[in-house]
Amino acid sequence: MSKIAFIGLGHMGLPMARNLLKAGHDLKVYDLVQAAVDELAAEGAKPARDAREAVNGAQVVITMLPASRHVEGLLLGDGGLLESIATGSLLLECSTIAPESARKVHAAAKARGIELLDAPVSGGTAGAAAGTLTFMVGGEAGALEKARPIFQSMGKNIFHAGPDGAGQVAKVCNNQLLAVQMIGTAESMALGVANGLDPAILAEIMRQSSGGNWVLERYNPWPGVMPNAPASKEYDGGFMAELMAKDLGLAQETAQSSLSSTPMGALALQIYRLLLKQGKGKKDFSVVQKLFVE
Ligand code: NAD
Repeated sequence: MSKIAFIGLGHMGLPMARNLLKAGHDLKVYDLVQAAVDELAAEGAKPARDAREAVNGAQVVITMLPASRHVEGLLLGDGGLLESIATGSLLLECSTIAPESARKVHAAAKARGIELLDAPVSGGTAGAAAGTLTFMVGGEAGALEKARPIFQSMGKNIFHAGPDGAGQVAKVCNNQLLAVQMIGTAESMALGVANGLDPAILAEIMRQSSGGNWVLERYNPWPGVMPNAPASKEYDGGFMAELMAKDLGLAQETAQSSLSSTPMGALALQIYRLLLKQGKGKKDFSVVQKLFVE
């Protein structure tokens, strides 16, 4: 079993770290939020007082932070955490960040003799808890083979997307599509209900018809249609709208660098920014439903 340092114990990181503990790894954990560290320490992880202490002696380091600036701020520069990670160890950067930012961290890690994989995930908090995440991995195939058993403790599908940064490119493509599906589903749910349909019946008809999609299968945005979906819990938990807005911004930056045309992604970004302006950024991204009913 590996000595693993896990940094970033938020909605995703905490259940992911818990699955590593369950798999029997020797785990040291750190987050800026002490309560998250205490929660895992109570379950058998070693608590660290700071990130440097967490990585001391680790063979594998995993980071699960909000955005590019957090990852670059933690790892890079003078006194950055890369300086404290042992040469020859494996760094699995699982946050969703800009592909450009991931490539920057890859280059800095290589210069220090650390094997890095950009490995953003899909599957949400439910997938993190169940250990069924999808990992989209960018970097060397050899490093992925070393990391595979660790990813398998937290996920089900592990894809090698391509070279450095490719995992992040796959992730922004996926999340752009997810946002478009969520908005389209919310719009159609509101249209049907405004015209007298029962939301549960409409949801089931569309799920089994040609409009069927992942949102209708697992994450219906209309409250009450799926008892366990965030929509039925006041849109709490799940994947915050502000993180979706961040990912849609990353998709636009990525499109800019390749001069790709992404009109649906651009519109989705504007719609999510509107939600943020309304103070709904901390709610699950299915809260977009409210735009069509309030
Ligand atoms: P979160 O905000 O709940 O968790 C991030 C954690 O990082 C927080 O606990 C924060 O305190 C900690 N943190 C920030 N800077 C730190 C630092 N310097 N040192 C130590 N800890 C630090 O976010 P999340 O929902 O867990 O998402 C994490 C990443 O995963 C994001 O990039 C997100 O886009 C991505 N993601 C989220 C979901 C989801 O459903 N929530 C799904 C797939 C991918």
